[in-house]
Amino acid sequence: MNKDMEKYIEKYKEIADAVQLKEVFWLNPDKKNISQVQITEVSEDQIEDAEARLKRFAAYLCAAFPETKENDGILESPLRKILKMQECLNTQFGADIKGELYLKMDSHLPISGSIKARGGIYEVLKHAETLAIEHNLLKETDNYAMFADEKFRKFFSQYTIQVGSTGNLGMSIGIMSAKLGFEVIVHMSADAKQWKKDLLRSRGATVIEYQSDYCVAVEQGRKESIENPNSYFVDDENSVDLFLGYSVAAKRLKQQLYEQSIVINENKPLFVYLPCGIGGAPGGVAYGLKQVFGDHVHCFFTEPTEACCMLLGVATGLHDKVCVQDFDISGKTEADGLAVGRPSAFVGRVIAPYLSGIATIADNKLYQLMDSLKKTEDIFIEPSACASFAGLLKNDKLNQYIKCNGLESVAHNAIHIAWATGGSMVPEYMIEEYLSKVSK
Ligand SMILES: *Cc1c(COP(=O)(O)O)cnc(C)c1O
Repeated sequence: MNKDMEKYIEKYKEIADAVQLKEVFWLNPDKKNISQVQITEVSEDQIEDAEARLKRFAAYLCAAFPETKENDGILESPLRKILKMQECLNTQFGADIKGELYLKMDSHLPISGSIKARGGIYEVLKHAETLAIEHNLLKETDNYAMFADEKFRKFFSQYTIQVGSTGNLGMSIGIMSAKLGFEVIVHMSADAKQWKKDLLRSRGATVIEYQSDYCVAVEQGRKESIENPNSYFVDDENSVDLFLGYSVAAKRLKQQLYEQSIVINENKPLFVYLPCGIGGAPGGVAYGLKQVFGDHVHCFFTEPTEACCMLLGVATGLHDKVCVQDFDISGKTEADGLAVGRPSAFVGRVIAPYLSGIATIADNKLYQLMDSLKKTEDIFIEPSACASFAGLLKNDKLNQYIKCNGLESVAHNAIHIAWATGGSMVPEYMIEEYLSKVSK
């Protein structure tokens, strides 16, 4: 153990428990009301700009990915009420969910089947737009369907895009970049599943495999990208564009809730549970939700017990200056999308005042939840995504939060959203392998 870390173990019970690989539910003592937070890093204008950019690209996405036509080229996922799963959590997993439970099915986002279809695809599109404008191939008022033209593909083939990934980010960046015509190189950490590498290669991406963890894959990708002047690196540890792509989810969620006659206000609070790896995806979504719903939304991150980097970063205030290995925690988890040992360099700082808490969950429970969701609702999501249920299982802490925030009288009206972050592209044989691992 890194000596400097011992003081945090003495100071914070949750960190002491986390080091022993116990599941914890840390409630953020420094959460602020929205009116107390000075927005400095990411403005609302930037989120609107991202939303407008995605609208400009909708015509292209329809042309390039026919499955996006039914939603007019806007990449969005269903919001589904999961009453049977709610009952199952209450009766078999010790939960005590008042109000209603929904599943936000980013597991079923088009093109790459994970939440990375928000941030990852957005960043690639933005880079492509920037290059095309710089080279006088495009004006913002043009019909972006022309990105599908051979002329554009040929132009982009002079450029390279690189990314480090545990799997899903690589799939989003790889599939999107290859479709536009870019050379694309994905640096995959040891945790990445074989089928994700195979799929990427089949779409024309170059996959470089590492025996080491995510940080090393990112480091190497960044280094190789710097050496090539025509290469662009999607930097998961620092990228504001990824964050912005994720944040667009919030306004759209408001509309989806409205379509189901749900209006969030002081009598109807919203609780959202977001699986967290490096922090970009849950951070971006939560940040957007806070802009849209203010103090009526309560955002929780969830992590595997073996890769609880955001918990350590935010609770100690050390952010990216700390990694799980500093606390003798392995960083190894079956939840490949969350197998990250060191949190983002900026997300924790931006999100800390907004964050309600962080819950951790053991790998074996992820499999049980996966199995239960399949049985009760006939929905398959990957193990990482099942972390979205973690906060709901610790009802003593959740009830404490509800009480401390004066929400007891409205808790029975609450909307809880488990944010399912990946799964629809998992091949059938892998689904069977996953389900066979469930310890009964
Ligand atoms: C990437 C990912 C997350 C978390 O996103 P981060 O930006 O790494 O925090 C959650 N679930 C799945 C399935 C993912 O692929």
